[in-house]
Amino acid sequence: MKILVINSGSSSIKYKLFDTETHELMCAGLVERIGLAGSRVKHEIQDDGGVQTIVRETPAPNHETGLRLVASLLVEPGIAVIEDPAEIAAVGHRVVHGGERFSQTVVIDDEVIDVIRQLIPYAPLHNPANLEGILVARRIFAQAAQVAVFDTAFHQTMPARAYRYALPNDLYEKHGVRVYGFHGTSHLYVSKEAAAWLGKPLAETTLITAHLGNGASMAAVKNGRSVDTTMGFTPLPGLMMGTRSGDLDPAIIFYLANNLGMSLAEIDKLLNKQSGLLGVAGNSDVRDVVEKMEAGDENARLALEMYAYRIKKYIGAYMAALGPVDALVFTAGVGENSPLVRQMSCSGLAHLGVVLDEKKNNARAKDVMPIHAENSRVKILVIPTNEELEIARQTLDALG
Ligand code: ADP
Repeated sequence: MKILVINSGSSSIKYKLFDTETHELMCAGLVERIGLAGSRVKHEIQDDGGVQTIVRETPAPNHETGLRLVASLLVEPGIAVIEDPAEIAAVGHRVVHGGERFSQTVVIDDEVIDVIRQLIPYAPLHNPANLEGILVARRIFAQAAQVAVFDTAFHQTMPARAYRYALPNDLYEKHGVRVYGFHGTSHLYVSKEAAAWLGKPLAETTLITAHLGNGASMAAVKNGRSVDTTMGFTPLPGLMMGTRSGDLDPAIIFYLANNLGMSLAEIDKLLNKQSGLLGVAGNSDVRDVVEKMEAGDENARLALEMYAYRIKKYIGAYMAALGPVDALVFTAGVGENSPLVRQMSCSGLAHLGVVLDEKKNNARAKDVMPIHAENSRVKILVIPTNEELEIARQTLDALG
């Protein structure tokens, strides 16, 4: 069976095609600058000799033309990976917000589409684009089952004491103001990989997972289920991120508005786009910040110290919440590639049973890579995330 995984953004469509019989990735790509000048598709085909990359600069005024472009590349003579788009049995869609309604992956019908639409106020930047991807894929791959995999679903197992805010009940009951959490597909994928590495069933595995990409979040996973996470009602709180502030005193917002005359739109931009590593160090990419720090830049050093200190604080918090932890897992761009961030985040945690092996930590992760010292009670693992593969697997499961 062939499963196409789609991550539809406001001006891009990322896709991967999997063959579930061979468990292989057949091709992957990105349509970018949809609706803008200079749109193009980058299509990568996996073959025996490696990866063949095709770049086409073609107008893609909307998602429909973008996805049609992908459909035609899949069958284009000379570079075809399938003979007929009808071979695609299912399309798995990444959908950011599933609210309280979706704690599982679902086969999409009109009702599911309505709920995703109703959830737009909760994820105004993501759900409209995800929905557009679904509507377009329904037309282009009409014979395929359409399946939605939600970023929030994995965290729906959190207990109320973790997901409720200390606000008047009405805000939760009437307006759904609560912690939802994000990156669920990644937290779940690395949890499964960690359990397999530990040789335990997921349902008996307790983990702290740290997804450190441009956006970053951690999850407390008890017996395979998320019981707490650092992001909240939106993807803004928790860890310090590339451009997002993470946790902050909400009264700062009143100060900015009342004393500095900033508008709500300006504050929104400040906290989401101009803060985090960018705000403190002047760069959002950890590689640039590390380079600056090595050249003696004190703001860059402070930014990294703040970044790692937040992670360390949540490790401590989640150890208190979880009890005995089997493993701490690092994943995503920073988690997989920055030995320095991992080392800074774990330093001084020996009293909690977390001890890194410096040499192992400096190796490059391809598969699951253990980086704990022999005397570490908690295993420390670097696990490359693969959200698309997890979406493909869940799509297959949803179809029974
Ligand atoms: P996204 O959240 O966009 O999916 P990724 O998981 O791809 O992000 O992570 C992107 C981030 O990973 C970059 O901004 C950069 O900070 C970090 N990163 C990537 N490679 C390295 C590296 N070699 N060393 C340190 N950080 C890295």
